[in-house]
Amino acid sequence: MQLRVTSLPGDGIGPEVISQAICVLEEVASGFGHDLELDEKEIGGAALAKFGNPLPEATTQACLASQAVLLGAVGNPAFDHNPRELRPEAGLLRLRQELRAFANLRPAVFYPMLAGCSPLREEIIRGTDILIVRELLGGLYFGEPRSLEIDHGDGHAVNTMRYTEPEIERVARVAFELARSRRKRVLSIDKSNVLECSRLWREVVTRVGRDFSDVLLSHMYVDSAAMSLVLKPAEFDVILTENMFGDILSDEAGGIVGSLGLLASASIGGPVGLYEPVHGSAPDIAGQGIANPLGAILSVALMLRHTFNLAKEAECVEAGVTSTLMGGFRTRDLARPGERTVSTEQMGAQIAEFVSLAARANDRAAS
Ligand code: NAD
Repeated sequence: MQLRVTSLPGDGIGPEVISQAICVLEEVASGFGHDLELDEKEIGGAALAKFGNPLPEATTQACLASQAVLLGAVGNPAFDHNPRELRPEAGLLRLRQELRAFANLRPAVFYPMLAGCSPLREEIIRGTDILIVRELLGGLYFGEPRSLEIDHGDGHAVNTMRYTEPEIERVARVAFELARSRRKRVLSIDKSNVLECSRLWREVVTRVGRDFSDVLLSHMYVDSAAMSLVLKPAEFDVILTENMFGDILSDEAGGIVGSLGLLASASIGGPVGLYEPVHGSAPDIAGQGIANPLGAILSVALMLRHTFNLAKEAECVEAGVTSTLMGGFRTRDLARPGERTVSTEQMGAQIAEFVSLAARANDRAAS
């Protein structure tokens, strides 16, 4: 099968984790007999520095011409005081719009061998396997009007939360469909006691839920959900929520399972899927070779599953991550005091080697 992928390493630790994810993807392609066609382009601060634009036209065109996009992270403090459209983050928001990727899937799974990394007791975290389905193209991050006036004590700012019924319905259908292949439970999170957008959200999700009578739907306010996530994370299955609530709750989920560096994401629904770790550019650790590449590598697994429909290959990458963790390999964010740590590159190489051996074993079994 031909795999046409655009890689956008971006800023900070983005290039470090993406180079490891690409090594793993290359092993998958050669080991399982696929033809990988890779194109690398700039986004975010890297694109601003080179072209004065956080999403150059050449990047957009390359992404639209491929089947999937693998992105590292955007964000560089050097551009923090730029106008909004000239900040690295604007490039990512525009890319999501260009790709029309409206459903953002963010799995948060507990690895028993990382029990010591979670701030929660093992009996609370054990069994946690959450899929957050976040609406990605609406709400406060995109709503107009928006403005900012800073004026010596007399300024004001405006953001607009706006949702339409079709926007809610399409992401709700993705969540219900995915719940069917899991424990068949959808928890819709909103703030319908205060926000009109959330009242519309609850109304539409309830209506869509009637088409999925085999899936149990419940609702919760976002403040209560934030608390429940730390009190009983193992009780959550699929979480369906709007853009900003999903952004915040998924970082919380990262903390719960042990590190933000573990979390992968898939943004689907448009013609080209976008795959990226949940974390940002982590300028505090960039360039040191210590970033955790697992979120990026697990994003490759999501790409194999959701864009290319290659379940066996996706499972192989996931098994590589589990086996590497079982072997005691830990980047600094995952290590307990006194534990030996490995670099970003060593962690990636370990998983790439697993994939290569597993693919050869698979080949032998088939012949
Ligand atoms: P961050 O996710 O970059 O970092 C938060 C904390 O987690 C930091 O202490 C960091 O060192 C740690 N961390 C993150 N990823 C890690 C990894 N793979 N391995 C080990 N530790 C890791 O969030 P932030 O510090 O709030 O933001 C930094 C920049 O990233 C900002 O410019 C922000 O706008 C941007 N950002 C981008 C994205 C994205 O590209 N999707 C997402 C979030 C933030």
